Amino acid sequence: MARRYSIFRLVGEALRGHRRWEPAWRDPEPKPSYDVIVVGGGGHGLATAYYLAKNHGLRNVAVLEKGWIGSGNVGRNTTIIRSNYLLPGNIPFYEWSMQLWEGLEQDLNYNSMVSQRGVLNLFHSDSQRDAFVRRGNAMRLHGVDGEFLGRDDVRKLIPMADFDNARFPIRGGLLQRRGGTARHDAVAWGFARAADRLGVDILQNCEVVGIRRERGAVVGVDTTRGFIASRRVGLACAGNTSRVAALAGLRLPIESHVLQAFVSEGLKPLLPCVVTFGAGHFYISQSDKGGLVFGGSIDMYNSYAQRGNLPTVEEVCEEGVALFPCLSRVRVLRSWGGIMDMSMDGSPIIDRTPVDGLYLNAGWCYGGFKATPASGWCFAHLLATDQPYVAATAYRLDRFATGRLIDERGAGAQPNLH
Ligand SMILES: Cc1cc2nc3c(=O)[nH]c(=O)nc-3n(C[C@H](O)[C@H](O)[C@H](O)COP(=O)(O)OP(=O)(O)OC[C@H]3O[C@@H](n4cnc5c(N)ncnc54)[C@H](O)[C@@H]3O)c2cc1C
Repeated sequence: MARRYSIFRLVGEALRGHRRWEPAWRDPEPKPSYDVIVVGGGGHGLATAYYLAKNHGLRNVAVLEKGWIGSGNVGRNTTIIRSNYLLPGNIPFYEWSMQLWEGLEQDLNYNSMVSQRGVLNLFHSDSQRDAFVRRGNAMRLHGVDGEFLGRDDVRKLIPMADFDNARFPIRGGLLQRRGGTARHDAVAWGFARAADRLGVDILQNCEVVGIRRERGAVVGVDTTRGFIASRRVGLACAGNTSRVAALAGLRLPIESHVLQAFVSEGLKPLLPCVVTFGAGHFYISQSDKGGLVFGGSIDMYNSYAQRGNLPTVEEVCEEGVALFPCLSRVRVLRSWGGIMDMSMDGSPIIDRTPVDGLYLNAGWCYGGFKATPASGWCFAHLLATDQPYVAATAYRLDRFATGRLIDERGAGAQPNLH
């Protein structure tokens, strides 16, 4: 088992030539059965396993991952964390997640590079100003930090932006100073290591290919490494949720779409915070290595492919240059895609399913990275107690039947628009 990291350990290992570091987590053989199986070794699955062990004392737990830890969206996103939401169902959950981020590195004993550098949402029209004032007030009523900035205040933060663009002049912004970024794959590694230290088995290259049921209730899963028994199975498969749920005969209100991310060559410090362009869908930050990390909308058609298409590349870059003309000569070094689990109202689901013993964590759309700690916390609570955690009571699966939708964006029942 991996021992605690500390400055004394680091110095000690350095003096010994760094030859005695143990692997960050074990590579165990699957046991015949577990108390709980979590399908999907992304951020949410690993966080769920960690909180199952830490908060509920459940140590006979396995995370089943078809590839390797961090191969899914948790290692592909643009790393933005924030809790600047509008609707009552969402604000308490995302704020809870923000609070967990604030203590996460100490809790996990792992440097996930959580950086509260601020998230600035720009607005460009009077109607957008009204919408942002409303959102900012809703945040503040819930005790979430939010500051309304005028044009001159925004100029102090990002003087290189095109404030007088004829079509998209910048009028101001909504700033959440506690928002920021975290290093995405380090979040996966941190949760994996911490869960492993508590006894959780992390089984990589272990794809779930069947969900066995007896008299309607789950009794285990068939995997590429054989059958593993468990009467409680939690799905945290992000973009593959609909495929995995179909193994239990479920058809979910979720569509899969590809979303791309981009990284530029390294630049000297340019952007002090995360910035979003309100006239389109574009968000950008600067990594600690200096690369600009940015993205835009999904590719807008259903897909399970983890790569995107050129028209979206062009659109995202156009938006970036419209906002920051100084970026027009910057070279893009890398881009990739991830599969998004887009729900019908743009909000997630953390709930039981109609199949006894099968639980669902899905529908994260563009925003699941920031939710990672709270999602794991709430899903673990549900799996351990059969009751929803207080911050996640709105994320019910039956809301699509009852009409209690949480449509943060007001886009209606069209998953690609959320
Ligand atoms: C390009 C991009 C940018 C994004 N930017 C942001 C952002 O800035 N901020 C933000 O909050 N969110 C962002 N997101 C969304 C966020 O990354 C996701 O919502 C979140 O990571 C999903 O949860 P996860 O980490 O558990 O998913 P994943 O890491 O995808 O985990 C799911 C895992 O399930 C595994 N799996 C699937 N099927 C099976 C099976 N049959 N058996 C076993 N394992 C299986 C997959 O291999 C995968 O590892 C972005 C996503 C993308 C793609």
